[in-house]
Amino acid sequence: MKKWVILFFLCLMIIGCTRIKNEELVDFTGKNIEEIKKYAEENHITLKVEEENSDEEKGTILKQIPSNGELTKNLEISIIISKGKEVNYKELGINELGDIPIMMYHGIQKMNNDDTSYIGGNIDKDGYQRTSEAFINDLEFYYQNNYRMIRLIDYVDGKIDVELGKSPIILTFDDGKNNINILDITEKGELIIDPDCAVGILESFKEKYPDYNVTATFFVNGWLFESEYNEEILKWLVNHGYDIGNHSYTHADFSKISEEEATNEIGRLYALLDTIIPNKYVPIVALPFGSPYNKEHDNFNHILNSSYENKNYETIATLRVGWEASSSPFVKDFDYTFLKRIRAYDNNGLDFDIEMNFKILEENRYISDGDSSVITIPKELENNIENTSYQVLVYE
Ligand SMILES: [Zn+2]
Repeated sequence: MKKWVILFFLCLMIIGCTRIKNEELVDFTGKNIEEIKKYAEENHITLKVEEENSDEEKGTILKQIPSNGELTKNLEISIIISKGKEVNYKELGINELGDIPIMMYHGIQKMNNDDTSYIGGNIDKDGYQRTSEAFINDLEFYYQNNYRMIRLIDYVDGKIDVELGKSPIILTFDDGKNNINILDITEKGELIIDPDCAVGILESFKEKYPDYNVTATFFVNGWLFESEYNEEILKWLVNHGYDIGNHSYTHADFSKISEEEATNEIGRLYALLDTIIPNKYVPIVALPFGSPYNKEHDNFNHILNSSYENKNYETIATLRVGWEASSSPFVKDFDYTFLKRIRAYDNNGLDFDIEMNFKILEENRYISDGDSSVITIPKELENNIENTSYQVLVYE
């Protein structure tokens, strides 16, 4: 009796396995690859997937062999899916070893450009403080010139996700002052942000251009944002796609203090952030005054690595002050620990202001292939690339 039961189930299994042989293939048009994979697995079919360029959207099923209605032979199906339109890298100037602008802002104040005695919306001679009108113009200029924002920490981690043909740009703000102005706080604890402050303007661009990927990193000192809502602001920023970094506790000049003081300046600010937004700030230091001016200075190691009140800290990158764009993170011997920034100010196209820098960038600008898992570069730059775990695509 037992034997018969086993034989019965054996028969069922054989019928199950060979079932597809006696059936017509289903039509895969309109199905996605996951659904087809599932079908193949359930019916014990070997599935081969090939990709081809086409005008159809990426992932669309272009062809199935054998086609719908034909009986399967050898329990094998080939699927050809679209990988989208063929990209002409040369025509688009794709270059993922090109330079990337890291913009250095300080305060933005609610003023028109005509309200200041300096040019281009600079409120002081060096343009550290600038008008809201100038900041809006800058953001519009970057967007219209096909720059899209990425987070500084992503750049440092080598993660650059920008759509095809566009270029990354990074915004930074130092000192905390005049970066955000809170008009009120609701009973529920929601912050009412002044639409004319730096953060208010950034938020309006989030709505205006959703593909701009609006973000910025704010480098703070011990006084944070000089606001009665300091803690609420920090939490709000990290919860709304912005980052917070370290600008030292008292805005110290690191070439003029002792090694112990240097450790305290960095460690004390990290400790402060740890109490308000633990694990949510970025371990990056913007060097006040851009000092020290070289990495050989004794204090530099204390900025990178030390311990404060028995707690170790590690800084993965530092930012200097001024004057030009930074490299692609994929170039050979690239040094994250001492990054260059562009001072975001106006000076009639002279002395490395915004206009001058964006002209220089046209000669060697990072232009994305739209695929963050592939580094695409022109053949002539082949020897400039760092060893990488990413797939590299070289074109001629
Ligand atoms: Zn500063």
